[in-house]
Amino acid sequence: MPMPIYMDNHATTPVDPRVLDAMLPYFKDQFGNASSRNHAFGWQAEEAVEKARKQVASLIGANSKEIVITSGATESNNLALKGVAEMYAERGNHIITAATEHKCVLDTAKRLEKQGFRITFLPVMQDGLVDLDMLREAITDKTILVSIMYANNEIGVVQPVAEIGKICKERGVLFHSDAAQAAGKVPVNVIADNIDLLSMSAHKMYGPKGIGALYVRRKGPRVQLTAQMDGGGHERGMRSGTLNVPGIVGLGSACEIAQKEMPEESKRSAYLRDKLKDRLLAELDEVFINGTMERRLPNNLNISFAYVEGESLLMGINDVAVSSGSACTSATLEPSYVLKALGAGDDIAHSSIRFGIGRFNTEADVDYVAAKVIQVVKKLRELSPLYEMVKEGIDLSKVQWTAH
Ligand SMILES: *Cc1c(COP(=O)(O)O)cnc(C)c1O
Repeated sequence: MPMPIYMDNHATTPVDPRVLDAMLPYFKDQFGNASSRNHAFGWQAEEAVEKARKQVASLIGANSKEIVITSGATESNNLALKGVAEMYAERGNHIITAATEHKCVLDTAKRLEKQGFRITFLPVMQDGLVDLDMLREAITDKTILVSIMYANNEIGVVQPVAEIGKICKERGVLFHSDAAQAAGKVPVNVIADNIDLLSMSAHKMYGPKGIGALYVRRKGPRVQLTAQMDGGGHERGMRSGTLNVPGIVGLGSACEIAQKEMPEESKRSAYLRDKLKDRLLAELDEVFINGTMERRLPNNLNISFAYVEGESLLMGINDVAVSSGSACTSATLEPSYVLKALGAGDDIAHSSIRFGIGRFNTEADVDYVAAKVIQVVKKLRELSPLYEMVKEGIDLSKVQWTAH
């Protein structure tokens, strides 16, 4: 069976062949431990790591000394929240985050809540954006950290990060942002955005899995973290463990390529995404775009096809790899908490599909996927009594349903 067309680039991305080529020597002859100070194997590895650190720093407008290597954005987010909470606990016990954050931020915040921290989970507006006035009101003199993601992994909505950073700076509160989806896709600058901590992941930007970084600001203010991993004191004491040299080289290479090609790539990606969107909207009625199109990753489309179960649609388009807005949690199908936070009903959340256009998608992919989705949605709706009633002009909200 041939593999499906991959259009799920928010879940992960394939490794760019140029990234793989950069990594390969570090699995072979250049296998040294970057901490070995006594011989050329170590020096070679350390040099490669420092070059990669510069490539990572350059992508986000940071200094290479501010880059802490981690195993990915999950670890970066854990280190940022737990590390700040522990380090600044005497200053205050309040942390603010948002309802649409990635699970690894939400669950870290919930763990801190159990340990006695007070957490505010800010709601978002219907467009998916944080309300800046609500954020201002939520900050108290006990607030030590605000953690708001740069771009959302389901709906691609890009938060007003620079404004959030400004508010945090004025109030003397640290600002962390999960940029796993944003870094390499849209311009990110930790200085302009007043970001104190920023999480990144290589496998969301055509690098390898299991490697990422946390930017930790060194001055204005100097951010300190309590390490969550004890050991040899790597990464300026913030994250012990022998460095994954090939992974780090891959992360650096992915950052350099993304930075160089971003202007062209984001244009191309937005063109393909908009072509897909326009086709679907032109040929299908009762479809709804989730999240604002005004502030959005160029490669994201999240769309609900009313009166169609996302899972049935996924089965109908089984030669296309995408995700639905339902999460399979222990045998039950839960509607996406992100879409619910936008005020979507369970039915709209269950009928949503996330398309993530990637570097290696072609215009032919988009044409094929659009035609296939249109065909399958039309077929499924022919089988939907609800859709038929709506088409006959019956107002479903006025129908008296009888339970049995
Ligand atoms: C993928 C993702 C993560 C987790 O990153 P890993 O490197 O896979 O641990 C965190 N946050 C967001 C927004 C993501 O998209």
